[in-house]
Amino acid sequence: MRGRSGVGIAGCRADMGAETIMSTPFEWTPEITAALMALWKEGLPTAEIGQRLGVTKNAVIGKVHRIGLVKRQSPIKGGPPCGKRKKPVAQVIRLETLKTGMCSWPEGDPGTEVFRFCGEKSVPGKPYCESHCARAYVKPSKDKDKARRNAVA
Ligand SMILES: [Zn+2]
Repeated sequence: MRGRSGVGIAGCRADMGAETIMSTPFEWTPEITAALMALWKEGLPTAEIGQRLGVTKNAVIGKVHRIGLVKRQSPIKGGPPCGKRKKPVAQVIRLETLKTGMCSWPEGDPGTEVFRFCGEKSVPGKPYCESHCARAYVKPSKDKDKARRNAVA
């Protein structure tokens, strides 16, 4: 890697052949780096930080990226991160909110926070909604054990 960076610098010099002043690569001493971080925290623009430290704006940006400084808030609004949108909370139907015509299929463990009733529109003459009627009045089959467990729960 070291050999390669040497080649890179040489190539750089060749590119800047028109310039008479040979620019030495700027050395980021711990002091200057600390100053950069302080100015960065103050929220100065990169060009301003560069001026104060005597480096180019690009050098500042490059260094900021290298040391992984947290990106400052930019006035340009980016889209909010995905998945942060709040889901509408489904109404929890408890015994006190359960009304006639609502499916009284219990869900969750009775006596716990998660216990609730289905609350869907029930089938006329039945205490449950269509899907729960299908589950409630299913004929015993090989799923007997499962059904029994559900009934117990
Ligand atoms: Zn239901």
